[in-house]
Amino acid sequence: MAGGPELVFAPLGGVGEIGMNLALYGLGDGGKRTWLVVDLGVSFAGDDLPGVDLIMPDVAFLIEQRRNLAGLVLTHAHEDHFGALLDLWPKVRCPVYATPFTAALFEAKRLGEPLAPDVPVKVVPLGSRFDVGPFDVELVSVSHSIPESNALIIRTPLGNVLHTGDWKLDPTPIIGPPTDEAKLKRLGDEGCLALIGDSTNAVREGRSPSEADVAKTLRELIAGATGRIAVTTFASNVARMRAVAEAAAAAGREVVVGRAMARVEQVARETGYLDGIADFRSVEAYGYLPRDKVVALCTGSQGEPRAAIARISEDQHPEVTLSQGDMVIFSSRTIPGNEKAVGKLINGLVRQGIEVVTDRTHLVHVSGHPRRTEMAELYQWVRPRIAIPVHGEALHLSEHAKLARGAGVGEVILCGDGDLVRLAPGPAGLIDEVPAARLYKDGALLISAEARTVADRRRLSFSGIAIVALVLSEKGELLADPDVELIGIPEHTADKASMLDIAYDAAVDTFASLAKPRRRDPQAVEEAVKRGVRAAIASHWQKKPICLVQVITV
Ligand SMILES: [Zn+2]
Ligand SMILES: [Zn+2]
Repeated sequence: MAGGPELVFAPLGGVGEIGMNLALYGLGDGGKRTWLVVDLGVSFAGDDLPGVDLIMPDVAFLIEQRRNLAGLVLTHAHEDHFGALLDLWPKVRCPVYATPFTAALFEAKRLGEPLAPDVPVKVVPLGSRFDVGPFDVELVSVSHSIPESNALIIRTPLGNVLHTGDWKLDPTPIIGPPTDEAKLKRLGDEGCLALIGDSTNAVREGRSPSEADVAKTLRELIAGATGRIAVTTFASNVARMRAVAEAAAAAGREVVVGRAMARVEQVARETGYLDGIADFRSVEAYGYLPRDKVVALCTGSQGEPRAAIARISEDQHPEVTLSQGDMVIFSSRTIPGNEKAVGKLINGLVRQGIEVVTDRTHLVHVSGHPRRTEMAELYQWVRPRIAIPVHGEALHLSEHAKLARGAGVGEVILCGDGDLVRLAPGPAGLIDEVPAARLYKDGALLISAEARTVADRRRLSFSGIAIVALVLSEKGELLADPDVELIGIPEHTADKASMLDIAYDAAVDTFASLAKPRRRDPQAVEEAVKRGVRAAIASHWQKKPICLVQVITV
């Protein structure tokens, strides 16, 4: 439909998965739209992407539309919402808006990375209202698992949108204001066209417990302990950090932290979230403090091998040791995919006689996302005409869609990354697609997920490689013995023959079997030897290696 202005929504990441959030809102007619960008996050790569650290949304569409980008608003400082900013902002270069804690944590992260670009961030107060191009944006404070999570009310001439960001209802969040219920209800009275919302816990009934409940459990556990205590959690969970610090102080213990925690601690102190809490000590102090006077607050709750708790569990940490009778509290949830690593960590600790407490037996962790009762409540307050589930995998999105319909929402749109959804005027629906893809952070480089690199690496990891070099004269005579090397291939066959000899013989025999004129064609030699060597190894191994043949003619 050509003609008048439209309001559209286009997610480029974060729909169909939890991670890598990037949402666009567009205003204008089909030929020329102005865009508001919300968040620019990363996902963490699993074992299926060997050597890849992070996954990011491909911002080709943003680069193409660079002149039409009004600005980028960060909802909060979790990596799945702001983790790609340092790498991708230089390609996009639009104004960036964030609240004080998010801006300060971003700056601390930037200073920690050599050669990081200078990204100008406009700091906006909590609850403030400001224009981003033609979009009138108002922040709504929501509770979550990091300070200063914000929902956005985006007002346009074609209607008001509520972009929830990550939120939950927590009347006692330990730090920061609880979710601004009054403002959300006012939006409902004013009229809300569309709610674009968090689906993470849409499969969970009831309400999420409060941070205050977790703080109570931590206080009891720490008060009752007689040995040393280590607590692992996400560094960015400042409410949890504060709860541990208060529990430690109540039990006459001091808190020691490593570098990752200290970085967030400093930002939290600058922004006032640790007011009244005694300074934490650096890990060097750990060894001097009596066993019953210390709590180590550490990272590594997901089993990350280089993090503090993993090194402690292997007794490899230079400063922090634990022994029989000490306690480790996992104040965290294991993210799917990390179960094995976390299991290994826990078993390592238990073997040393250390007591391990997890959320399976004690309320030492709560999610920062709303369960179904909280979601239903939000729909009652806001009463949107349209609902679009985001921030979830397919199951979460479809459960959220059912819940929204049940809450009386007339139009519920299920979409995916790269869909262009019209919100107004007229009925909502998918009208087009925009380019959406993934980038991998591989060492210092960003590579396309479509490139062969990682697929090759995965293939190498299970099939090994055979390398053959042949030196030929121009007349096609073999001038030296072939050079053969095997990497990642078994050394011996089932009947103890040398695989290297088999590959070598295959190379020589294949070459000898070629007709004389073919031996003068390096390409033909290469192809034939490759096939011969692969087949010879495969006949013993029942697996085909990658085979590289180099023919050098002198
Ligand atoms: Zn979050
Ligand atoms: Zn998130």
